[in-house]
Amino acid sequence: MAISRNKVNHFAPSTAEYVVAHAKWRKSRGRKPSATYSLHKNPTKALKWARRYAYFPISGKYLEGKVPEYYVCGGCGETGIKLWREYQTSLEQTTLLCMACSCNEQSKARIPTEDGCSLYTGTVFHFYRTEGMLPNQGIGYNPKEGPPPEAIEIYTVQERTDQIGWRVPAVPTEGCMNFWGYTSVPSAGVKWWRNLPFACQ
Ligand SMILES: [Zn+2]
Repeated sequence: MAISRNKVNHFAPSTAEYVVAHAKWRKSRGRKPSATYSLHKNPTKALKWARRYAYFPISGKYLEGKVPEYYVCGGCGETGIKLWREYQTSLEQTTLLCMACSCNEQSKARIPTEDGCSLYTGTVFHFYRTEGMLPNQGIGYNPKEGPPPEAIEIYTVQERTDQIGWRVPAVPTEGCMNFWGYTSVPSAGVKWWRNLPFACQ
């Protein structure tokens, strides 16, 4: 099926879906694939790699832009918000919990990041940099001891995660009820989950 350049650009360039769609568009114009993907700088190898991971939503829109009816917090009964599931647990034993209920269960504190995509753990890492080092080459130090005298710059980084204890984001698959493995969620699924709020407004 032919694909327009406009449609190709709907996919983020760093995704497997972009590489596959881009190759389709090139083929429709009688050309060879030219997009690269992550570590694969050879376009043919990149396409082979991307074909294994690319996922295109069944209806064009992931889960048709809806929230499945089983996607309900088992603690407070809220729906339409981000939920977490236990890591590596069979589907029969999987329970879904919202951020607040997950934090309670796992005895963890989490604050949503400003971009709405991740969570702060509250842990802050302290780094320093000396003159000979590149701007992104910080060395961690203990704030109680302070940075060494040769430090020319000190900065902090807040720890981020999308996990709450043993719980990971619950991203439903399309079709029958199931969830993507933690490291295999396709970009359309990630986007679907990120678009959900952390709590009811
Ligand atoms: Zn809840």
